[in-house]
Amino acid sequence: AEEYLLQSEKLSIVGELAAGVAHEIRNPLTTIKGFVQLYKSDHAIAFTDLLLSELERIETITSELLSLGKPQAHLMSRANLRDMIENTLNLLLPQANMNNIQFKWSYDHTAFFITCEQNQIKQVFINILKNAIEAMNEGGDIEINLRKGAEGECIISFQDYGNGIPEELLPRLGEPFYTLKEKGTGLGLMICHKIIKQHHGVITYKSKESEGTLVEIMFPLTS
Ligand code: ADP
Ligand code: MG
Repeated sequence: AEEYLLQSEKLSIVGELAAGVAHEIRNPLTTIKGFVQLYKSDHAIAFTDLLLSELERIETITSELLSLGKPQAHLMSRANLRDMIENTLNLLLPQANMNNIQFKWSYDHTAFFITCEQNQIKQVFINILKNAIEAMNEGGDIEINLRKGAEGECIISFQDYGNGIPEELLPRLGEPFYTLKEKGTGLGLMICHKIIKQHHGVITYKSKESEGTLVEIMFPLTS
């Protein structure tokens, strides 16, 4: 009975997601179609920017959704979280620099091995760090810490000092297409939640408006 429930829960999530995606993609498609029809006339040039931004939106949504696949057995490996975090920080360094942001990175051990699909775990860190960067309009420090918890698990924390999240909105984080950003997709955290769950981890948020946000992820360690 439990299996059955899980299966139907999955199906309803997929259905909900598909409906959401279809809805999100239909609007830019309708706009594009209108303008392509306009290309038959002389008025086209003025709308090229709009056309491009609609195309970019479809591109962003579809590329974010591509990382939604299940972890595949042959890609699972034992890997050090410390390396994965350092790789991600290096990857995002140009974006941090451009926004006057410094990463303050610390850890209390050198080895934190988990069994995972490395690209998916890096995707989680990328999505969370991007949100932290986007929340800090004025620049400043983002603190990233990796430590061992009391039960032998590991905890990765991301502290930013950005605009924060109103308390009543915290429960909505991870809902597909929930975004407060003009150019947001509202898919980043949904993808994070899914990947973390697949890796038997837990994610929590503490946030205060106009003070900042603390995101913590816990993973069971592999011996
Ligand atoms: P997107 O970034 O495309 O909006 P996400 O799923 O990554 O979608 O985030 C959903 C929403 O959660 C964001 O629009 C933002 O309002 C809020 N949010 C997430 N992380 C932070 C953060 N570190 N600081 C402030 N708001 C955040
Ligand atoms: Mg985001």
